Amino acid sequence: MNYKIEAKICQKCKKDFIIEPNDFGFYEKMDVLPPKICPKCRSQLRLTFRNERFFYRRACDYCGKDTVSMYSQNKPFPVWCHDCWWSDELDAKQYAIDYDPKKTFLEQFASFYKKVPFPALVGFRNINSHYLNFTADNRNCYLTIESSNNENCINCYWIQLSKDLVDCSFTDHVELSYEVDDCYDCHSLIFSKSCGYCLDSAFLLNCRGCNYCLGCINLRDQSYNIFNKQYTKEEYEKN
Ligand SMILES: [Zn+2]
Ligand SMILES: [Zn+2]
Repeated sequence: MNYKIEAKICQKCKKDFIIEPNDFGFYEKMDVLPPKICPKCRSQLRLTFRNERFFYRRACDYCGKDTVSMYSQNKPFPVWCHDCWWSDELDAKQYAIDYDPKKTFLEQFASFYKKVPFPALVGFRNINSHYLNFTADNRNCYLTIESSNNENCINCYWIQLSKDLVDCSFTDHVELSYEVDDCYDCHSLIFSKSCGYCLDSAFLLNCRGCNYCLGCINLRDQSYNIFNKQYTKEEYEKN
């Protein structure tokens, strides 16, 4: 069937959006109606299911103790603290139900969803660390999300196998750095983005294998550069 591109108005944000001819084919194949809300609003609705960084103080629904959770106290499902959720007290099989073909899947899923305990925060094998979510195997970390195998890091997002970081995101094997984003295998870097194998530098963008560089962009295997200009070691140190 030949579909035409169709302009629609989002029922949520009231902005225009279009449905491409290919999309209509997909909706027909999946036997669903074309959407009435725009892709951005649909994405927002899907993401409401995932709260990574807003924390609430609430009671554990098993032991009653105070805990920190990504779920507020008024959620319709039980939330258990870390110790209760990971203990043998939680027997997941006891919540199993038989599928009833006479009822809709979503109806059954909704009632199931309200019975099974959720962990207050997702994390395990973290040592001496607080306010972590979606994390594992971290030590001495604070307020760090979506991260694993790190040590001594504060206020970071998606960092892996990194050490001594503050305010960093999307790093892998980075150490002793501040305000670094999208970098790997770096050491002593500050205010830098999209770099790899860089050392003792600051304000770098998209550099590789650079050390002792300041304010540089797109450099490869360079040392003692300031604003992409080569200096001798002595000149650099004087500056
Ligand atoms: Zn919208
Ligand atoms: Zn508990």
